[in-house]
Amino acid sequence: MRPRRILPALLLALIALTVWIGALQLGADRVASAPSLPPSIVGQVIESLSPAELEAHVCHLQDKDALGYCNTQGTRFSWNAAGLQEAANYIDHQLQEHGVTVTTQTFTRTHIASDQDVGTVLTNVIGTLEGIAPPIDRGVVIVSAHYDSTASRTRGWTPETEPAPGADDNATGVAAVLEAARLLSGRCLRHTVRFAAFAGEEQGLHGSRHYAEQARATGENIIAVVNVDMIGYESDGEPRLEIHAGLDPRSITLAHTLTESVQAYHLDLSPQVVTQRATDLSDHSPFWKQGFPAILVIEDTDLVGPTNDFNPYYHTIEDTLDKINRGYFSEMARAAIGTVTRLAQPAGPDLRVVQQGPAMVRRGQTVTFTLAYGNNGTAPADNVVLTDTLSHGLVYQSDSSGAARAFDVGNQVMWELGDLVPGDSSGFVVTATVLAEAQSLTSVSGRTMIAGDGLDTDAADNVSRVEIPIHDLWKVYLPLSIMPLRGELRRRWGAGSVY
Ligand SMILES: [Zn+2]
Repeated sequence: MRPRRILPALLLALIALTVWIGALQLGADRVASAPSLPPSIVGQVIESLSPAELEAHVCHLQDKDALGYCNTQGTRFSWNAAGLQEAANYIDHQLQEHGVTVTTQTFTRTHIASDQDVGTVLTNVIGTLEGIAPPIDRGVVIVSAHYDSTASRTRGWTPETEPAPGADDNATGVAAVLEAARLLSGRCLRHTVRFAAFAGEEQGLHGSRHYAEQARATGENIIAVVNVDMIGYESDGEPRLEIHAGLDPRSITLAHTLTESVQAYHLDLSPQVVTQRATDLSDHSPFWKQGFPAILVIEDTDLVGPTNDFNPYYHTIEDTLDKINRGYFSEMARAAIGTVTRLAQPAGPDLRVVQQGPAMVRRGQTVTFTLAYGNNGTAPADNVVLTDTLSHGLVYQSDSSGAARAFDVGNQVMWELGDLVPGDSSGFVVTATVLAEAQSLTSVSGRTMIAGDGLDTDAADNVSRVEIPIHDLWKVYLPLSIMPLRGELRRRWGAGSVY
């Protein structure tokens, strides 16, 4: 018995060794393309986010005094006028404190209380930071959250006397909106940003519907809505971020801007863009109905797979700050606010680069990469430098730039491109060879980064990386030569007999 087990054990050891070496190579590659972005305004905004500010807002908005929280507010259930007014005042005050102009929109919704129709006045609180672009080019970017709450899933709950703390749903979203105002106030943005706190969401999206209908009627040039609803619950160790975009290509583009921000700024989140199965059960959907591009930013719900980490305290009196995952909450807010900042386009130089290469390479082959770069911003970029870091197995040969090469040590090449004025764009071709002896590698990669003096507006488009698989000739041709052989066998022995 024993000797017969040696062979499988040896095989297992071999597989383990291969996997280990593969992992080492992967690790080495990660280090080689270390995530260092040039300083940027969007990066600054993301780094300046304050988890303490976020938590303080949630604390002030939720109402469950028995737990000793810092709030003095009443319940934010929609038909509780006093509690709602207190919350609206808090939001208004916070926005004004950050130098944002505040307006309110009021409207009446009728509901039945004690067998009587009662009209309740609901209030949207809207902060505005005016953009600096000429009016004809100036769009409106909205970051929104509903500030009302409910605890209707708690058995026997009575809204008049019992709390509806709504910490995750949706004090977290309101906190992100208020933090966005703090981080963006005083900055020069091309587009106008509106910080919107909507009322009456839980009774049928009343506040956002009112806003979207008014916006359509007045011809407001809304270019993006980032609606934040429930961004604080995470319990399964997988920090998923659902982005509900629906099927409108403009909304899908917004979702991709968010995904790109998460990746470029190295946020600890797994974004998932939802199109076909996107929900319409939050404040983004009235904007869809009025033809505006909009997305919903939300934690891992039970609406789509592959995981379901939905908040079990949702719409109960237990939805309180102590259930919030604070690290995750901050990352979600960073993702939303970073994206809003990018969409609003800070004024200044905005360098970008895109690198492209072949779909696959072979050992010993000469390959070409194209580098396209430019300045998409509103101010010149001075002393622009482009660097291309080639992975193991890839060796620089020449390029068509005509630009001064500052150095090419090891696997890094650096070009001095001079000053780029707004609207400038250009590109060139880099020729490199794949080492014939790079036997242990399964792919090669190049990582290009562009940077100039001072602060770029958005670093997410300053880095472009291509990874190209190495194909061995025998792997391509051997299966092709086996196929006819199999056909031949099948003809000779009859179908099925060779299996
Ligand atoms: Zn909600």
